[in-house]
Amino acid sequence: MTKTLTGGCQCGNVRFATKLFARPSICHCRMCQKAFGGFFGPLVSSHDGHWTRGEPKWFQSSSVARRAFCADCGTPLAYETKFGLELAIGTFDEPTEVAPVIQVNMADKQPFFDQLTSLPVRNDPGDEWLDFMAGIHSYQHPDHDTANWPTTE
Ligand SMILES: [Zn+2]
Ligand SMILES: [Zn+2]
Repeated sequence: MTKTLTGGCQCGNVRFATKLFARPSICHCRMCQKAFGGFFGPLVSSHDGHWTRGEPKWFQSSSVARRAFCADCGTPLAYETKFGLELAIGTFDEPTEVAPVIQVNMADKQPFFDQLTSLPVRNDPGDEWLDFMAGIHSYQHPDHDTANWPTTE
């Protein structure tokens, strides 16, 4: 059974939905690293992905591909070629529903990538940091569709 998955950008001005998706991947190519500001591009092919709130802005990143992002908050949202649309996994409301199953474009993989999960873990951040974190009021859109956003409360 397929279920409709939703997602969107950090500020909530662009939202999407998809029901027909396949082959979630992480792409190590240098363009994905740059476009996501990360170490890889997490993307899932979508055959019916569509925008349910707002529209993204597109950047033509090569002669064959363009990339969508929110013009208001900058969140990378999608990648598109003649083969179709791919949506950014981290922007889904439930990323675990589209957990990656394959890695592609290994030639550009960052040499430190394989060691990331064995980095030391900070266990005691200290009181000043904990106070800072406790005082945060998030303006990020919640992980579900909303009738009105931002809320007025
Ligand atoms: Zn946004
Ligand atoms: Zn890539």
